Amino acid sequence: MGRVSGRVCLVTGAARGIGRAIAEALLEEGADVCFADLNGERVAELAAENAARAEAAGGRAMSAQVDVTKRDQVRAMMEQVAEQFGRVDVVFNNAGVNRPMNFLDVTEENWHFIMDINALGTLIGMQEAARQMIAQGGGGKIVNTASIASRQGFDNVAPYCASKWAVVSLTQSGARDLAKHDITVTGFAPGVVATEMWEEVDRDLMEIGAAKMPGQAMEEFASGILRGRVARPVDITGTTTFLASPDSDYMTGQIVMIDGGMTLV
Ligand code: NAD
Repeated sequence: MGRVSGRVCLVTGAARGIGRAIAEALLEEGADVCFADLNGERVAELAAENAARAEAAGGRAMSAQVDVTKRDQVRAMMEQVAEQFGRVDVVFNNAGVNRPMNFLDVTEENWHFIMDINALGTLIGMQEAARQMIAQGGGGKIVNTASIASRQGFDNVAPYCASKWAVVSLTQSGARDLAKHDITVTGFAPGVVATEMWEEVDRDLMEIGAAKMPGQAMEEFASGILRGRVARPVDITGTTTFLASPDSDYMTGQIVMIDGGMTLV
């Protein structure tokens, strides 16, 4: 038996990076997994590529194209997963974006873009997950992706930090409000994880003169990480599978830091 055998899990932002790693690790441990993302084509490919891995572990893979900021799409996705796999047990609200800008130049457009996906998208994902879980008779787990930026401010990413602090608040508030339905809400806060997101962050940092070359920001962060290096997506998945598994059933309202000791430095 895998650690999440028989559990129906859904992961947003699963087309690449941390979300993809979370989804694939859940499949390895026997879950039925829906890969969900704005990039519907890529998640469809990933679900197909992972079919054999899923079968070997006793689970199934499917995909859904979704914009996490659109309630009707998120609701339809929950229904689709429940229709295909029978229910929804664990929902990872992981889709997120970052678009660095100098503090004084932050526009309303930049603010809304980031807050809509990272904060409102998390709220909608939590609500629609909970609605589905309650309709099934209650019980379930919601896991949100926070960040070290949920804990302190960083240069040139004010809206991102604000959005990730919001994720922590939503996790705590959701844990309280949904407890009566036997739904737990937890989160995890990665430090610096080498994903394609950093290519976009580097591009923006260079554009505003805050970095000279790709990889510079990550390298500067690495020197302050007790574990001596930035994370790979697989460094995150032991914890995310734990948060989806029965082993974490007594936890709710907590954010687990997975930052290599970065925030202790
Ligand atoms: P990524 O950019 O590699 O992947 C994000 C995925 O989210 C992409 O596949 C993208 O298509 C999807 N997405 C974006 N907007 C969406 C929308 N509206 N609806 C549905 N899907 C959408 O990012 P990542 O590095 O894998 O980060 C994943 C999560 O982890 C994010 O919430 C991010 O803020 C958080 N995080 C990342 C790091 C890091 O260093 N990479 C650190 C801390 C927290």
